[in-house]
Amino acid sequence: MDRVIVIGEGIVGASVAFHLSRSGVSVKTVDSQRDGRATSAGAGIVSPGGTTSTVPETNLLMAEAFAHYEWLIPYLREHVSADTGFDVVGELFVALDDRELRMLDDVRSVAEQRRNEGVRGIGDVEMVDPRSAQEMFPALSDIAGAVHISGAARIDGRGLRQAMLDAASAHGLERIEGDATLLVENGSVRGVIADGRRIEADAVVLAGGAWTGELTGELGFDVPVEPQRGQIAHLTVPNNETTNWPILATFARNYILTFPTNRVVAGATREDGSGFDYRLTAGGVHEVLDAAFALANGLRSATLEDVRIGFRPKSPDGLPILGQVPGQERLFLATGHGPAGLSLGAHSGAMVADLILGNNVAIDLSPYRPDRFT
Ligand SMILES: Cc1cc2nc3c(=O)[nH]c(=O)nc-3n(C[C@H](O)[C@H](O)[C@H](O)COP(=O)(O)OP(=O)(O)OC[C@H]3O[C@@H](n4cnc5c(N)ncnc54)[C@H](O)[C@@H]3O)c2cc1C
Repeated sequence: MDRVIVIGEGIVGASVAFHLSRSGVSVKTVDSQRDGRATSAGAGIVSPGGTTSTVPETNLLMAEAFAHYEWLIPYLREHVSADTGFDVVGELFVALDDRELRMLDDVRSVAEQRRNEGVRGIGDVEMVDPRSAQEMFPALSDIAGAVHISGAARIDGRGLRQAMLDAASAHGLERIEGDATLLVENGSVRGVIADGRRIEADAVVLAGGAWTGELTGELGFDVPVEPQRGQIAHLTVPNNETTNWPILATFARNYILTFPTNRVVAGATREDGSGFDYRLTAGGVHEVLDAAFALANGLRSATLEDVRIGFRPKSPDGLPILGQVPGQERLFLATGHGPAGLSLGAHSGAMVADLILGNNVAIDLSPYRPDRFT
């Protein structure tokens, strides 16, 4: 495949474009910079050991994706100036009361088991008492206990996307700003109409995040991704240096992470059925801040800088949708990463690029194939 067009420059599309152009393919990306694109709002937790997921297909992707970052991040540091924000800062999985404290042992043993299976990004796993946890994260509330997972990392989605696009541009990527639709002739995909221009291609990759389902209607092929709104608060704590504070994770699924030098990110709502309603809601902001203060009471005096809104591309079974569309040899899907796209998306993009190139793909993609819902 010599000429490929990628619709969507989120983390997934940027990764497809980067890997293909690095392999010598002529690549174009098209993006209309929609309000609520998930990569611009995502928090950035990358923690294969700090998840309570028991889905084997998700855990396999998490493990492979972290190993991919161990190659990708040094490559980008060497070749482009955009900062991915990737840093291994560790994670405190926190128990807020005695009931949660009893459940913490399970978190520890799952993380240890994964590490012993060879999963990267976990490191040392140990129980820590409330006082030691507070030394690591000074704004922490009075908690019952925590598990510390030393290998967990954070990433800046905007920075990573920019770094991959810059690296791809150095290999000839052409970026087009505007809306894209599929160019379909006699029932077959031939390319893309981008910003009113007809562009033919040997392959088209749909990486339009939560909007991907809008693109295939003409083909009668359903991509059942739904937008799940997330509202997420950005605070600053002027009198603290937060660079080395660990990620905070909880049983309630709210979390806090930090970025240099004094930024704190507290997330996030998970609003099913939101549609593309790009609004901050009073209830959403209240929910996020309330949960943040229960976890880190010391943040009450922080400055509220920004609340971001993003639409997670959620698939019905919670797994990404990756691969060729049956009956359309030129059409590939890369979407459906839901709440885990900043962890998984760069690796998924690499795998879809390999599929297009005819290379061996890192893992068996059949659990993620696009036609599994029909
Ligand atoms: C609040 C929040 C917190 C999150 N936290 C984390 C986290 O801590 N860890 C984690 O792993 N993941 C997290 N995620 C999930 C992660 O952000 C997403 O899964 C991921 O960013 C999805 O990337 P994407 O490239 O598929 O979609 P997007 O980033 O949404 O990109 C899709 C792009 O396609 C473009 N587009 C769509 N249709 C068209 C069209 N027809 N023509 C032109 N352009 C088009 C859009 O403009 C957009 O730029 C979070 C998400 C949210 C919302």
